[in-house]
Amino acid sequence: MAIQLYNSLTKKKETFVPMEEGKVKMYVCGPTVYNYIHIGNARPPIVYDMVRRYLEYRGYEVEFISNFTDVDDKIIRAAHELGEDVFAVANRFIEEYHNDTCALGVKKANKHPRVTETIPEIIDFVAKLIEKEYAYESGGDVYFRTKKFEGYGKLSSQSIDDLRSGARIEVDERKEDPLDFVLWKAAKEGEVSWESPWGDGRPGWHIECSAMVKKYLGDTIDIHAGGKDLSFPHHENEIAQSEALTGKTMANYWMHNGFININNEKMSKSLGNFVLAHDIIRQHSAEVVRFFMLTAHYRSPINFSDELLDGAKNGLERLRTAVSSLEHRLGESADYGEKAEWLTKISQLKETFINEMDDDFNSANGISVMFDLAKEANRYLREEQTSKEVLQAFIALFDELAGVLGIVVRTQAELLDTEIEALIEERNEARRSRNFKRADEIRDQLKDQGILLEDTAQGVRWKRG
Ligand SMILES: [Zn+2]
Repeated sequence: MAIQLYNSLTKKKETFVPMEEGKVKMYVCGPTVYNYIHIGNARPPIVYDMVRRYLEYRGYEVEFISNFTDVDDKIIRAAHELGEDVFAVANRFIEEYHNDTCALGVKKANKHPRVTETIPEIIDFVAKLIEKEYAYESGGDVYFRTKKFEGYGKLSSQSIDDLRSGARIEVDERKEDPLDFVLWKAAKEGEVSWESPWGDGRPGWHIECSAMVKKYLGDTIDIHAGGKDLSFPHHENEIAQSEALTGKTMANYWMHNGFININNEKMSKSLGNFVLAHDIIRQHSAEVVRFFMLTAHYRSPINFSDELLDGAKNGLERLRTAVSSLEHRLGESADYGEKAEWLTKISQLKETFINEMDDDFNSANGISVMFDLAKEANRYLREEQTSKEVLQAFIALFDELAGVLGIVVRTQAELLDTEIEALIEERNEARRSRNFKRADEIRDQLKDQGILLEDTAQGVRWKRG
């Protein structure tokens, strides 16, 4: 079976067929770098990193580009407030973005182009749109002539008439039509600017992505992705600019990830529930945050709360405990016991994982398959006799699937309290079912990690040795 992908442009799931066999050209809209990223900004890098890893797992070579908006009104304002240079602010928050996303297991893009490095291409793009009469200069600004582009509204399913009647008509004498949007902004006093045929100025927001896509990936790409909030006007405008210029389809597939809520409310500065990624990472660990993000399908909304993150942590630990138990048994296992049936089961779980992920990158179901794998592993560990080959097959599949999702199932050097308690609970369970071999093994496993158990009348107590 091939990958099925929900295309926001056609509003249906389609079989993914790249332009060139075995290769994928993918562009993800990146952040405007004027602050630390909040948890909502962290979702696109995580989910599209998962998509990229899965495409690679399925044998595609992925060319992955994600931009930085490093000059914009918000950055200029932030620089002014901080009393710093615009470029210094942008550079600092680009570095912070890399720090946060790297902690969250996001691989760097093949290239992270910046607006300030793409100015000649942007000017050239705008000049050509003017030549083709899709754009016009007005008082040092340049605007896109929206109604001239026939397909306008196709991504967000709105017609020009809908937009006109729905829009508050701003009176702006510089524009021919209120639906026109800016491609180039004339410089204001004291602002950073570049020379252009229309005087000193800087690019509008939408044009940068059209110019970067064209520069780094070409006229048509396979997948263009971003948050749902970017679908209109940003992506609609990207399509208009690029397709007006080239006469070709800009992207064959459009992907949009869902919103994030905090305690069931929309995150906003005014509600005071604005959560920065690095704060939530410090509180819950980056590995748990990434795991939690992937427990929802990327198109679904996702709700953040401390309780839900704690739940995700327990889930992740269940997987880790299974892996560390398998490893421990491997150290003392010979090669005997029933094999074929278990090896078949393991390869069936791998197939199931692929089927779930092929269905529009359903990482939520992919993770459920990993829980099934942990359940089977624990069941196997209760067997009297175990075989090295089966244990290795379990561990190999855990590593393989964790790598595809970018999650960490190998426990760090030191066991966490909750992991110790999970193992003690499993030992209690083993003793209740009179599986003393397994119970002793867990005691030894904990002892290897320096954890000493004491059986008391009130139950099992433990301490770090
Ligand atoms: Zn963009």
